[in-house]
Amino acid sequence: MKTAVTTLDPMVFEIIESDVKSPDPTEVLIRVKACGICGSDLHAYRDPSHWLSPDASWKADRVLGHEIAGEVVELGENAGRFEIGDHVTLQPRLFCGECAECRTGRTEICQQSSGLFGGELPGGFSEYLAVPQENLFRISGSVDFAVAALAEPLAVAVHGHRVAAQLDSSRPTYGERVLVLGSGPIGLMSTFYAKQSGASEVIATYRYPQQRDAALRLGATQVFHSEDEEGLQSFCDSIPVDSVIETVGGSADTAALACRLVRRGGRVVILGVFSRSVMMPAHVILSKQLRVAGTVFYSYVGFKHDYELAVELLENNTDLMSTLITHRVSLQDAGTGIKLAGDKASGAIKVTVQP
Ligand SMILES: [Zn+2]
Ligand SMILES: [Zn+2]
Repeated sequence: MKTAVTTLDPMVFEIIESDVKSPDPTEVLIRVKACGICGSDLHAYRDPSHWLSPDASWKADRVLGHEIAGEVVELGENAGRFEIGDHVTLQPRLFCGECAECRTGRTEICQQSSGLFGGELPGGFSEYLAVPQENLFRISGSVDFAVAALAEPLAVAVHGHRVAAQLDSSRPTYGERVLVLGSGPIGLMSTFYAKQSGASEVIATYRYPQQRDAALRLGATQVFHSEDEEGLQSFCDSIPVDSVIETVGGSADTAALACRLVRRGGRVVILGVFSRSVMMPAHVILSKQLRVAGTVFYSYVGFKHDYELAVELLENNTDLMSTLITHRVSLQDAGTGIKLAGDKASGAIKVTVQP
């Protein structure tokens, strides 16, 4: 099988050939058909200090990619939940299934996780991958694999929304006004899910024209350029926003902005991955009595897994979701994919590697 592995230059991958590993008894071997490139795969591309400095975090010989969809090609002897030929999407975070968190379904905060496919473990920039059957979710064969791989970022948004809703269970999310900061893939998924779960209005900020257009397609009722903070502030002053979902991360000051813009007694959800410790204004959180949640990954929040909801939504909105796949590249062109995904001026929303 072919695998694209990182070199010390984030734009250059080496294609290596190896034997396909047979699945362990409870594993399923999948033929990877699509692997989305995520913002977290791009840190090295954006910041050369990740790969040029002596203590660089970017490493050679890694296999990236955690947004994975494919087809079942071989079953471990005890992997009876799937059949050969099933189309599946991968929940890439391993969990022990035994700790107190796992036993209540909250596998995203498993105390003994051994990592993430595409992070600590080899990921989807490869033709084949053997994974535990508990990490797979079946998806209709009519859904394009690139769209099926969107289950990962969509499940992140679903999870954030559902966990935040629990912060104030006396207040329904139906009919509320939601502000989504950022229209990268996680922001767009958050806009989409807020609308799907009954928000009366969804306001979104964007930086690039393709993000503005996508936000409007996915259900935003009002959009603001991210630099128009004044316009956004006066809008939020005139029509109080019940819930703000922060998806920008990096080194932005959007966590503080979220606290400033939300109404008294409102909710703030932090989904953006910050690269440094940013300011959270404790006096604003206190004086407005805000409920703030940071959420990560996906799990059983209620009786359904976030991935089950994500898969249902993808199956019912395939055409709409396929508009988010702006570029498709082969495994050999993984470096080009990283470059496209890292440069939003290319028009990119989601770049997909198709091994
Ligand atoms: Zn991701
Ligand atoms: Zn656990």
